[in-house]
Amino acid sequence: MKSLWDDNEAKQYEGDLGLRVYTSRLLGRDTSLVLHGGGNTSVKIKQTNLVGEEEDLLCVKGSGWDLESIDVPGFPAVKLDHLIKLAKLESLSDPQMVNELRAHMTNAGAPTPSVEAILHATLPYKYVDHTHADAVVTVTNTPNGLDKIKQIYGDTVVIVPYIMPGFDLARLCAIEFERQRNDHTIGMVLMNHGIFSFGDTARESYERMVRLVGMAEDYIQEHGTWTLDYDSPAQGTVDPLALAQLRRDISKAAGFPLVLRSQRDAKAMSFINRSDMAKISQQGPATPDHVIRTKRLPLVGRDVKKYVADYKTYFEQYAPQARDPKTMLDPAPRVILDRELGMVTAGKSAKEAKIVADIYDHTMDIIVRAELLGGWQALSAKDLFDMEYWDLEQAKLRKGGKPPLFQGEVALVTGAASGIGRACVESMLARGAAVIALDVDPGIETLFDRSDVTGIQCDVADESQLKAALKQGASSFGGLDMLVLNAGVFPGGCRIDSLSSEEWRRVMNINLDANLILMREAYPYLKLAPKGGRVVAMGSKNFLAPGPGAVAYSASKAALTQITRVAALEWGVDNIRINTLHPDCVFDTGIWTDEVLAARARHYGLTVDEYKTKNVLKTEVTSHDVAELTAELCGPLFAKTTAAQLPIDGGNERVI
Ligand code: ZN
Repeated sequence: MKSLWDDNEAKQYEGDLGLRVYTSRLLGRDTSLVLHGGGNTSVKIKQTNLVGEEEDLLCVKGSGWDLESIDVPGFPAVKLDHLIKLAKLESLSDPQMVNELRAHMTNAGAPTPSVEAILHATLPYKYVDHTHADAVVTVTNTPNGLDKIKQIYGDTVVIVPYIMPGFDLARLCAIEFERQRNDHTIGMVLMNHGIFSFGDTARESYERMVRLVGMAEDYIQEHGTWTLDYDSPAQGTVDPLALAQLRRDISKAAGFPLVLRSQRDAKAMSFINRSDMAKISQQGPATPDHVIRTKRLPLVGRDVKKYVADYKTYFEQYAPQARDPKTMLDPAPRVILDRELGMVTAGKSAKEAKIVADIYDHTMDIIVRAELLGGWQALSAKDLFDMEYWDLEQAKLRKGGKPPLFQGEVALVTGAASGIGRACVESMLARGAAVIALDVDPGIETLFDRSDVTGIQCDVADESQLKAALKQGASSFGGLDMLVLNAGVFPGGCRIDSLSSEEWRRVMNINLDANLILMREAYPYLKLAPKGGRVVAMGSKNFLAPGPGAVAYSASKAALTQITRVAALEWGVDNIRINTLHPDCVFDTGIWTDEVLAARARHYGLTVDEYKTKNVLKTEVTSHDVAELTAELCGPLFAKTTAAQLPIDGGNERVI
């Protein structure tokens, strides 16, 4: 482990707090030190308040900030004297502690200071750094971990036995620090939890962290191994239908839909294929705060019912008698280890599933290294229960307000690179869905550039491409809940007497056949959708009120509408709803260039603005309008509507 300190970089940060930001980010850059919100840092500064008094303040990481990207506002300032007085109390409940922290900040709008703020305050150093470094939790989670830590560090660190984070831990650390400190003290190890380093400058504190963690890594390398080899090769594509079945079971257990993510690289497959996997994976997480994201244990195999039953037993065993059974968290697993499906993680969003995957990715290495050091030995179930059901964590879970409409759900949109399709992707994302975005334009693969969109180039007219895209999409999020049949072509201006058979077949292929194929192939997934499958087809005003010169287009949309009506009859029993929109006058799409618009307006003897609003309501219909209605059709407002056809055209006299 090397220091990442760089004088040139450091120059860009000003003052004590600036350098605190810099070295916090250095810690955050290394995922073996700090992973997704783990760890915290602080600096003690002096500041003159509004009435001219100089105050000692602790600037400590605030909740909601990650060290990797933290900035000055991520360090709320708390009055240091008060924190030191609090540390001397015999007891303080955690909600009281949080209230004291918030009530003694200098900026009422700042984020809540870390629950480890009092601990930071009691350490008599300007800079304090805290991580849950992989190497340290590896060593402490083995038999005789305490002796090993003593062997590694001698008297350079204070050692604190495990107790839960919060006020009691801060108090115990203050007592142990006073008792064990000496002239060589540069850090503090919290058994089964992590490590602190401290110093007079940002660089000193940071580099002591690097040095201390490096010593643990060296110890692991000497007594086992730090660099791991993987015996099983990475596996190719996952069976998306098997994954979707698992997702249905897990979502049912949770009581709400979850997105799944499968990882089948050499590391995951080697861990899963170990003969002792069922034993070593069933102890607990690497550090207690992971329990919130990963649950205490992964599910081995796919028997979700048994996992739920075991979770209930665990809850009943450790929950205090008075605890209301309604306070049990959802009993669904978040990490699943399966020989076929790989390391599968579940989350309320693609981002959350990825965070869980990152955590378990590190956990697998930690467990394997600890096994080589004499055996992986996690905290007791009771300790982990106390963490999982900690007041402060529960309060965090309860916050957050109403979840997004499509949280944990997956939508597939065709023709997603532009116009109505692109707007549909945005409307689905705005409601919390993950989206599989298909388009013939290769730009689709990078257009959205976010973890909750899988962009796939696909010519819907090619059946094998379409099938492959659906499989790839369903694999990336664990299934499919909503299907938006949007891709289509409008080759206007050709009368029946001059329409070639090729052109007729081309239009029918894209506008009709592709949708039938996609519906047929998507059906097994839609049937497994935790909240029921939904399909929205883009019909057209032309179905209800055709014009001359577009027979292939109008006929294809009429036939598509008929397909949706038949599908509604056939699939209602599977709780799949299918509805059709008939848009018109949507001019902000690719086919409507300024020239085409001007030409059409001239044809009718209208200005472009008059042409755009030539409907009963005299209004312009945008792609966004159509997309919002598409999304709402998939939502609870239309939960009892299927086979409906809705015009979205500003009112058309011929349709009315
Ligand atoms: Zn910690």
